[in-house]
Amino acid sequence: MIIDGKKEAEILRGKIKKEISDIKTKTNKTPCLTVILIGDYVPSQIYVKNKEKSAREVGINSEIIRYPKTVSEKEILKKIDELNRNKNISGILVQLPLPEQINKEKIINAIHPSKDVDGFNPINVGNLSSGYKSIVPCTPLGCLLLIKKIEPNLSGKHAVIIGRSNLNGKPMAQLLLKENCTVTIVHSKTKNLEKECIKGDIIVAAVGNPNLVKKNWVKNNSIVIDVGINKVGEKIVGDVDFAELKDFVKAITPVPGGVGPMTIACLLKNTLECFKAHQL
Ligand code: NAP
Repeated sequence: MIIDGKKEAEILRGKIKKEISDIKTKTNKTPCLTVILIGDYVPSQIYVKNKEKSAREVGINSEIIRYPKTVSEKEILKKIDELNRNKNISGILVQLPLPEQINKEKIINAIHPSKDVDGFNPINVGNLSSGYKSIVPCTPLGCLLLIKKIEPNLSGKHAVIIGRSNLNGKPMAQLLLKENCTVTIVHSKTKNLEKECIKGDIIVAAVGNPNLVKKNWVKNNSIVIDVGINKVGEKIVGDVDFAELKDFVKAITPVPGGVGPMTIACLLKNTLECFKAHQL
């Protein structure tokens, strides 16, 4: 089975749109997402434009604050402080990557945890790893929703996550632990990667290495979630050899059209959650 991330994202966006419309009818209040975009890196410009368009489509007010790539860290921190204090702003997102004069850690720490729609602030990371309520990074949240569409009860399943980034691998592991999975994380220093992977009832590949995961790395009843986005010539491919696996495994996400659309839908979901928690 091929998991249709576009369709699932559309369903999720529909639910978010309905909820926002109902809240607006009752309270005349609307969520607002502010995105800070620094520099002229083309992929970031495209991501931010897509996020803004998707936000508006579900009824979230969205504004992009643009800065030249030479902007100082002090100026960005001042703007974040101002947005933190602004009661009309539900969520703040600073698009990564940042120019070298700006310290990513300082920026992530500066965003108030209650407005941290990316879920990167250490308070949210800590809450997630303690099993408490928290804002969860959008990509792993989207992956979990897709996995649960196929297998609602994940208790006792063995999940293998390839990659240990703060953005993807680590929060994915926390989410699957919370679902009572047995979790293995593998990375670039793991020995016998294939031997570890083949244990997985669920495989999440978040590596950035085109077509890394082959048919002989997986069980035929596994659910395979491909987070990778890799440009090979003019094509975008994932971290999983989709052609080899698609008729072999139980379910698999394509790239594009799998995790990507769910990531944006989950950003909208996080913005709505922040709004409901602090502005209603
Ligand atoms: P990252 O920070 O570069 O992390 C990659 C991870 O993969 C690291 O933990 C690294 O191990 C591990 N790794 C690298 N080569 C490996 C190998 N040969 N075998 C096993 N593990 C290996 O990347 P990221 O930010 O998590 O992103 C991963 C991919 O997801 C990228 O293609 C990115 O473009 C994509 N992505 C997609 C979405 C989406 O919405 N679909 C969102 C975000 C990112 P070490 O820790 O040992 O270095």
